[in-house]
Amino acid sequence: MSQQRHQVIIIGAGIAGLRCAQVLHQKGIQTLIIEKESEAGGRIRTREKNGFLLDEGFQVLLDSYEEVRRAIPFAELHTKTFDSGALVAAGSGNLRYAFHPLRHPDRLFYTLFRFPGTLSDMLKMGWMALKYRHAHPDFWKNVQKETTATFIAGAHFSPSFYLGFLRPFFGGVFLDPNLGLPAAYFRWLLAKFFSGSACLPEKGMAALPALMAKTAGEIRLNTPVREINEGTILLENKEILEADWIVDARSFQDKGEKGNFRNTLTLYLEGPAQKDLPQSLILNADPFSPILHLCFPSATQNSYAPPGKCLCSITLSSPLPPEEDAMAVMRSGLQAIYPKVNWEEFSLLETIEIPYALPAFPQGNSLAFRTEGRKLSIGDHCIYPSLNGALRSGREAAEWLIRKIGA
Ligand SMILES: Cc1cc2nc3c(=O)[nH]c(=O)nc-3n(C[C@H](O)[C@H](O)[C@H](O)COP(=O)(O)OP(=O)(O)OC[C@H]3O[C@@H](n4cnc5c(N)ncnc54)[C@H](O)[C@@H]3O)c2cc1C
Repeated sequence: MSQQRHQVIIIGAGIAGLRCAQVLHQKGIQTLIIEKESEAGGRIRTREKNGFLLDEGFQVLLDSYEEVRRAIPFAELHTKTFDSGALVAAGSGNLRYAFHPLRHPDRLFYTLFRFPGTLSDMLKMGWMALKYRHAHPDFWKNVQKETTATFIAGAHFSPSFYLGFLRPFFGGVFLDPNLGLPAAYFRWLLAKFFSGSACLPEKGMAALPALMAKTAGEIRLNTPVREINEGTILLENKEILEADWIVDARSFQDKGEKGNFRNTLTLYLEGPAQKDLPQSLILNADPFSPILHLCFPSATQNSYAPPGKCLCSITLSSPLPPEEDAMAVMRSGLQAIYPKVNWEEFSLLETIEIPYALPAFPQGNSLAFRTEGRKLSIGDHCIYPSLNGALRSGREAAEWLIRKIGA
């Protein structure tokens, strides 16, 4: 057993913990991050397999997230952007086009005449994106009651636009096809998607925490914390560390708190390289299919697949039946969605199931973090379930600590 005293100990090197350490470190406050895993990043991970980059659960970085720009030199990620908008699979190979008219004027004709809804839907979406362009993410204060589904129902979009675009797109972002998240969150995200682009870093999503870790001070990996007490933490290896302040940046379920989580299942398929693959999401308008959406990450960021190969990522809203021929079921579904490729040439590369992907929305919080004596609790579950939320929680907690410490 050994004892050391630290100014601030942060438990968890997820995005929130890293951001908190970065901000404190910049002010000359001594920090130590304790992380149980062998690398920093938490829920943002990328694994390599046979030369492919597989993000652990399909996720994207929105370049309009203001907290991301504050946290890292964005250019160092060497991102490539998805097209702004989506293709919508309306069944039997019928593709509809929903692209940002100003960003993709070359597709304006298709977007006008093959839109997955009515002209009124298109105008309403444009109007909403403009109306909410300055929406502030402080929506969690007193705005929990109205859900996205209620708000959308009140806007009277057509069923084809709801099923073809709104449900698979935002259902995929929220990991909740029922769109039960607060309407204010939807409005803010809509504006973020409209004003920015979804992108993928050259080295996968894990490049974001890897870059942050360089400026986050000391990090001890492979070091699980067993117990947190006032001013001390007990490690699994029985070591005790002392600190003036303790920041608990573990995820909601690792803190042992109760609540609802949203899970996700991503299938990665590999196939031969193809020309002219779409650089956008392909949304599935069929509400009875387990496939919510798919895309070809390597068509956007070619580092995601080795030369001569392409990577397809499929997000499922419910698991496939555990049958031996699950891939055959999948192929026939994919054929109906996007018949332009020969799905017989694709094989399953990896199945990634994340049971605790996103926490439920916090109820009635007015801060982006929580305090209890000399202990702070941070993370996406304290604010809103996104990368931007986790970053903001870490930053605001650090700024609060800086005021307390008087640095
Ligand atoms: C599949 C998926 C898709 C997503 N898609 C998007 C997206 O497209 N856009 C978006 O903005 N957000 C997305 N998110 C959400 C985003 O990734 C999270 O909001 C964010 O990463 C949460 O960061 P965090 O630091 O709050 O928590 P975490 O990343 O969970 O960090 C907690 C850290 O604490 C560590 N820890 C836990 N227990 C201990 C212990 N006992 N001792 C030491 N360390 C411990 C963990 O190992 C982990 O590193 C997605 C998430 C998932 C899983």
